[in-house]
Amino acid sequence: MLTDSYFSSILLPVFILLLILLFTVPAVPPAFAETGSDDEEDQRYQRLREQMVNRQIIARGVEDRPTVNAMRSVPRHKFVQSGERRRAYMDSPLPIGYGQTISQPFIVAYMTQLINPEPGMKVLEIGTGSGYQAAVLAEITDQVFTIEIVEELGEWGRQNLRNAGYDKVQVKRADGYYGWEEHAPFDAIVVTAAADHIPPPLVEQLRDGGLMVIPVGSPFRTQNLMLVEKRGEDIRTRNLMPVRFVPFTREDE
Ligand code: SAH
Repeated sequence: MLTDSYFSSILLPVFILLLILLFTVPAVPPAFAETGSDDEEDQRYQRLREQMVNRQIIARGVEDRPTVNAMRSVPRHKFVQSGERRRAYMDSPLPIGYGQTISQPFIVAYMTQLINPEPGMKVLEIGTGSGYQAAVLAEITDQVFTIEIVEELGEWGRQNLRNAGYDKVQVKRADGYYGWEEHAPFDAIVVTAAADHIPPPLVEQLRDGGLMVIPVGSPFRTQNLMLVEKRGEDIRTRNLMPVRFVPFTREDE
């Protein structure tokens, strides 16, 4: 016969376990079936993106309108390797080949917000990689320039940008240490690889009053995300938070 104590000692824990499973399993992305029409797929990705923005971006304090709108709009799944698509909106960086990674969504949003992005701004990014950060910037302004040192990644990033409709972004293969003289000065510079010092040519190519965000520190360790502000001859720097980025590599050293 079922007694109260039998219920509380056996059935209740089982019931609680079932409840826990019920609420945790659907949150795991493999429940995301890649079937259905393109429209349905777009809607699914749209929902995942909406969740990403609410839980990872806004909940952590990034509230800048242009940044939040851009994070809502860019189809991040089009900037990851095809096998990683279902993980595109997860709270983590993802491998993109050649030992490089696409940054965690929050970091992309945080860095974007730091430069006070506005329409019409001229922005230089160092480290194109997948092209995702460039696409986020391109949602806000038409003048985005990005440099990638690895030929194949630059080509892949360029294609990802074209496929997702960001035709105006200009991509160049070069050592970003030297910036992009021809288009300088820039209102802002976003560096997405960790350098052991702030490259002087980049400071040079920042306009007076311009901002640069850059991870500075030893490769393969925790670095400092720094905000650099150019005020005439006065270069102000501020340490913002510990981060981990792939190394800023150099050519002809
Ligand atoms: N912004 C990228 C992040 C890519 S990871 C994205 O959104 O996906 C950083 C990238 O910086 C890598 O692709 C790496 O090859 C590149 N990189 C490293 N050193 C560089 C340099 N000196 N000049 C240009 N790109 C560089």
